[in-house]
Amino acid sequence: MAASARMIYLDHNATTPLDPRVLDVMLPFFTKDYGNAASTSHPFGWRARSAVDDARAVIAQAIHAAPDHDLVFTSGATESINLAFKGLRPEPGKNHVVTSRIEHKAVLDSCRNLEDNGAEVTYVGVDEAGRVDLKQLAAAIGDRTYLVSIMLANNETGTVQDMVAIAELCRDKGVVLHTDATQALGKIDVDLDKLDIGLASFSGHKLYGPKGVGALYVRGDLRHRMQPQIHGGGHEYGLRSGTLNVPGIVGFAEALDICTSEQPSESLHIMSLRMQLHDVITSQLDGVRLNGDLSGCLPGTLNLSFAYTDADSILLEMPDIALSSGSACTSAKAEPSHVLRAMGVGDELARASIRFGIGRFNTEEEIAYAARRCIDAVTRLRAMSPLVA
Ligand SMILES: *Cc1c(COP(=O)(O)O)cnc(C)c1O
Repeated sequence: MAASARMIYLDHNATTPLDPRVLDVMLPFFTKDYGNAASTSHPFGWRARSAVDDARAVIAQAIHAAPDHDLVFTSGATESINLAFKGLRPEPGKNHVVTSRIEHKAVLDSCRNLEDNGAEVTYVGVDEAGRVDLKQLAAAIGDRTYLVSIMLANNETGTVQDMVAIAELCRDKGVVLHTDATQALGKIDVDLDKLDIGLASFSGHKLYGPKGVGALYVRGDLRHRMQPQIHGGGHEYGLRSGTLNVPGIVGFAEALDICTSEQPSESLHIMSLRMQLHDVITSQLDGVRLNGDLSGCLPGTLNLSFAYTDADSILLEMPDIALSSGSACTSAKAEPSHVLRAMGVGDELARASIRFGIGRFNTEEEIAYAARRCIDAVTRLRAMSPLVA
């Protein structure tokens, strides 16, 4: 079905619409200030360069990165994660990586790639709310561990990790910490200096910026240990060659700037919509399981399992609401979510899970309508189910 005006978008963890204010600042860099940021011989290049420098400063400030650290612009979080995993040279004699079982496929597949190349990877478990087991994590880090990668906020459940404790653990053990902060950035505070994080991955299109742009943060002391994956003109501190996506970079920075300044009020608005959705659904339906918890979680993510149904049938019952069952990447295959499985959710309930991703432009009316559609859909499906007594 084509996206139409009467469709309600509740899939903001998959991607967000571009904020019109972001488009406004991007447009001149397509048509008027189209210079190559690497052209040093004329004002077209200088203007592009200075726009990129400004964008870099805005993003660095938003994530509390000191100026001597590097922000490498990429095509998105997937590329940033690949650069982090493939680019970080292990110290001599080390070849062990620790991550969690709830990571995004970009991290899990990057780990598989390291394994294919002879590294050893340990996948640490989580509790039923989706939080990394710190004891398991501490026990997993050994003498040959050189990298730990734990996401800041999960894309399926919104669960936020205790990154202060995780970073402390990694610092004590002298291991580099990478975090996939793609879902967290723009929604919750991301303070890399306080957290003492070595590498962090970000994406523009999850925070009302454009698709096809992201960044990898590289702490200053790690620069010499990073090797590029894309070779060419030596752009981006030699870590990522290729002509810079100036409109994308400018848009990414503007989008993040808007998120930062509006975060306090926007969080409250989005959290109240999530409470509304949660309360209406759970007050009218039995057999609803909350996957994750409502505190220590991204403001707009609500992941619910509806017993005696399956998510794909629910989605078919409400084609005017854009939603995901599990994560967009896993739902291409008919496998239950690896994230919910790791949290101890059984296959039946994992297959009956819907992810609501509420965003900036959703309204109370939309949430009320979506809640009613969902309640009706689940009620209809259960009426047809032989499993319901
Ligand atoms: C969307 C997402 C990614 C991938 O980001 P792209 O910019 O689309 O490559 C990685 N990790 C998480 C947690 C995400 O939500």
